Amino acid sequence: MSAATETQAGPSSRIVDLLDVERVRRDFPILHRTVRENRKLVYLDNAATTQKPQQVIDRIVRYYTEENSNVHRGVHYLSEVATAAYENARTTVKRFIGARDEKEIVFTRGTTEAINLVAQTWGRKNVGAGDEVLITAIEHHSNIVPWQMLCDEKGARLRVAPVNDAGEVLIDEFQKLLTSRTKLVAFGHASNALGTINPIRKMITLAHAASAVVLIDGAQGVPHLRVDVRELDCDFYAFSSHKIYGPTGVGVLYGKEAILDAMPPWQGGGDMILSVSFEKTTYNALPYKFEAGTPNIAGVIGMATAIDYMDSIGIERIAAHEQNLLHYATKRLLEIDGLRIIGTAAEKACVISFVLEGVHPHDIGTILDEQGIAIRTGHHCAQPLMMRFNVPATGRASFAMYNTRDEADALVAGLEKVIEVFR
Ligand SMILES: *Cc1c(COP(=O)(O)O)cnc(C)c1O
Repeated sequence: MSAATETQAGPSSRIVDLLDVERVRRDFPILHRTVRENRKLVYLDNAATTQKPQQVIDRIVRYYTEENSNVHRGVHYLSEVATAAYENARTTVKRFIGARDEKEIVFTRGTTEAINLVAQTWGRKNVGAGDEVLITAIEHHSNIVPWQMLCDEKGARLRVAPVNDAGEVLIDEFQKLLTSRTKLVAFGHASNALGTINPIRKMITLAHAASAVVLIDGAQGVPHLRVDVRELDCDFYAFSSHKIYGPTGVGVLYGKEAILDAMPPWQGGGDMILSVSFEKTTYNALPYKFEAGTPNIAGVIGMATAIDYMDSIGIERIAAHEQNLLHYATKRLLEIDGLRIIGTAAEKACVISFVLEGVHPHDIGTILDEQGIAIRTGHHCAQPLMMRFNVPATGRASFAMYNTRDEADALVAGLEKVIEVFR
């Protein structure tokens, strides 16, 4: 390394106070319960869903105890309180991802629903026969199937940018697949199955150069990375509350105002209309046009509390802690004889997929579970990706801000036991 790069690395590497993991853990009551035969819980399935801090649980209880009412309807006191909390949550989300306006924040049931919304409104209007939708080989089923359905319906073609053996998207190939036929490009911020963090800024720029609209599946972005949708310049960004320490059944679709405005509504019903007659219905303004029916009010409010919680810790501090764990756990796991990590991208979130020679991933999961260690085994909603790596399934340990090096050690010790049983 030259002296110049050395000095460059010095001052530019941000100093972040370490996250106080024991203090964080005290906020998560479930982490203190035991499982199975009085085993200490080691929860390493955070890419599937994260645990909830007491602050989020309390907020939801407070909502139902003191504020429950329908939103945007009543003139009565409780309805005003509930509506204010619900709309304040929109402001919290706007700030969290750097959107320009609350109108650009649509509440959905989660990432899956957000992507389906775009496929069935923007997609149906703008994608026709002979057009193409481009995704990548490491997408979650939620970012594959809605586009397949759209392409089938319209006679359009789904193209897939390949990845290298490390699980990184081949940017040259990605670029080659961008043509004048490409109407929409959709890819994950980070992969739930391998951890790969995509160079999304670059990919967005390339897609825009081909005049395509870009959707980011941010389900694994917002938990681990600072997101600024205006800086990224993506057209859509989707994520789920339950992967950022909030409740299940709620999520967000961000869309640029002009694009959302030009989109037809999706579901019809209450709240998405201004006036209804049997002859003609006038649709409500953004974002309500896309929020038909009574929303998950408690969920939305709980999600905002989860965002406040993450902000109180600091996303940079969370990211630094998780990167630290990633390096430690990777090093420890590679000490295990016959263990192979699937997904070795240079930029990774704290997700480690692995296979163990001679042991089926399902058996790994079962034996770890007997020891109180929760990992995910299977195809991780990414079957085409498993095929790409020629494995039927993997074991996956995914870490969050409350995980510790001791837990990484427990995973390694647990895997040593698996080996004892099977070899
Ligand atoms: C979890 C996940 C989804 C789906 O999220 P839901 O909350 O189940 O709708 C989509 N993409 C990625 C990358 C995920 O991790």
